[in-house]
Amino acid sequence: MREILHIQGGQCGNQIGAKFWEVICAEHGIDPTGRYNGDLDLQLERINVYYNESSCGRFVPRAVLMDLEPGTMDSIRSGPVGQIFRPDNFVFGQSGAGNNWAKGHYTEGAELIDSVLDVVRKEAENCDCLQGFQVCHSLGGGTGSGMGTLLISKIREEYPDRMMLTFSVFPSPKVSDTVVEPYNATLSVHQLVENADECMVLDNEALYDICFRTLKLSNPSFGDLNHLISATMSGVTCCLRFPGQLNSDLRKLAVNLIPFPRLHFFMVGFAPLTSRGSQQYQALTVPELTQQMWDAKNMMCAADPRHGRYLTASAMFRGKMSTKEVDEQMLNVQNKNSSYFVEWIPNNVKSTVCDIPPTSLKMASTFIGNSTSIQEMFRRVSEQFTAMFRRKAFLHWYTGEGMDEMEFTEAESNMNDLVSEYQQYQDATVDEEEEYEEEGAEYE
Ligand code: GDP
Repeated sequence: MREILHIQGGQCGNQIGAKFWEVICAEHGIDPTGRYNGDLDLQLERINVYYNESSCGRFVPRAVLMDLEPGTMDSIRSGPVGQIFRPDNFVFGQSGAGNNWAKGHYTEGAELIDSVLDVVRKEAENCDCLQGFQVCHSLGGGTGSGMGTLLISKIREEYPDRMMLTFSVFPSPKVSDTVVEPYNATLSVHQLVENADECMVLDNEALYDICFRTLKLSNPSFGDLNHLISATMSGVTCCLRFPGQLNSDLRKLAVNLIPFPRLHFFMVGFAPLTSRGSQQYQALTVPELTQQMWDAKNMMCAADPRHGRYLTASAMFRGKMSTKEVDEQMLNVQNKNSSYFVEWIPNNVKSTVCDIPPTSLKMASTFIGNSTSIQEMFRRVSEQFTAMFRRKAFLHWYTGEGMDEMEFTEAESNMNDLVSEYQQYQDATVDEEEEYEEEGAEYE
C-alpha cells in the first residue's frame, strides 16, 4: 500500500478539496457515509491510496482540513460529503488571516501549526508506506498561502523523503479584488520552488476565461471555477487511484515530468470542458479529445504553449477506447508540432488509458505539461508584484507582523530566476549543448 495524505487549507483550499472528495467518492462508489455501494472491483483495488478503512468497513478520507477561521469548514461539514471526514481532522482557529501571508506564515498560522502537525503525524503513523502528501490551497490569500507553505516546509523537515504535490490556485484580478494577492502569491512561489516536488498550477485567470469564453457563462462564480478544478484534480490523480503502469505513484509522475528540480510547475488541461450541471450529450472521439486536450484554450493556466516549448508532457485518457488509436493520435500531434517539443529530451510525451471514465462522461482526457511557456503566468504575477513593491505599497501590513523587507526582495528574485531558467531551456537546442561542452573543454 502506498498511501497519500491529503491536506486542504484556507477558504479556497477547503472549497476545492471538498469538491475533490465529492468527485472521487462518486468515482470509487463511496457514499456520503463512507459505505461502498459500487459494483466494480477496480473501484476498490487501490482505494487505500486515499482512504483509510475503518474497523466497521467504512472508508474515511485520509484528509486533514485546516483554516484560521471556522466559516468554510462549517459549510463543508453541512455540505454533500461533510459527514465522511474524520471529525478530529478539522483543525481551525478563530482569528482569520485577513489575506495577509505574514499572518498565515509567521503569526496566527504559526500558533495553530502544531495542532495541524499532530493530526498529520497521527495519520502518517497509521500508514503502511506513505508515498507523500497533496496540499490544496490558494496562493492569493493568507491561510492557504502563508500557513499552507509553512505546513509544507514543516512536513518537508519531518518527512524529507516523502513526495509533496500541491494543487495551487494562482490569483487573477479578474476573479478577485484584493490588491495584495501578487505579494502573497510571490512569497508562496518562493516557498514552493524549494519545498514542493510537483505543483499543479490552477490559474484563476485561465479558469475565468474558460468559463466566460468557452462555456459562455457571463458571470462565473467560484462554484463554476471549482467545477473545472475538481474535474482536473480527478483526472490528474486518476493514475494514482486506479490500477495502471504510467505515473502510478507521485514519484513516478515526478520522474517523468521533471528534468530539472526547480522546474516542477505544471500546466494542466482537460477535455471535454463542461459547465456545472450541463450534460454531455455527444460523446467525443479520440482525435477530438486529443486535439482539445493540447489546445491552449483548454489549459487551466493562462499561458500559451505555442509561446514556449514542452520539456515533457503526460496524457491520461479515460473511458473505453483503443490504446492503439490513442498512441497514433498522440504521435500525430508530436510529429505535426515537433518544434514545440525540446528535441534534447527524446520521447518526452507519455500517454495512458484508464478504463474508468469520470462519472457523467463517457470519455475524457487530462493533460499535464511541463511547458516553458508557463513563464508567462509567472511574469504576470511578477509584474503586479513589482509595480507595488517599487513603492513599498502595503508593506506595513507585513512588516507589522514582523516580516523583513528582505524576504520580499528574495522572493521577487527567486521568481524572476525561475522565469529566466524557463527561458534558458526554451532557447536551448542540441547544437548549443554541444557548443557548451566544447567551450567547457577549452577552459579545463
Ligand atoms: P485564505 O482563506 O486566507 O487562504 O484565502 P482565500 O483562499 O480566500 O484566498 C484568496 C484567493 O483565493 C483569491 O485569489 C481568490 O480569488 C481565490 N479563491 C477563494 N476561494 C476560491 C474558490 O473557491 N475557488 C477558486 N478557484 N479560487 C478561490
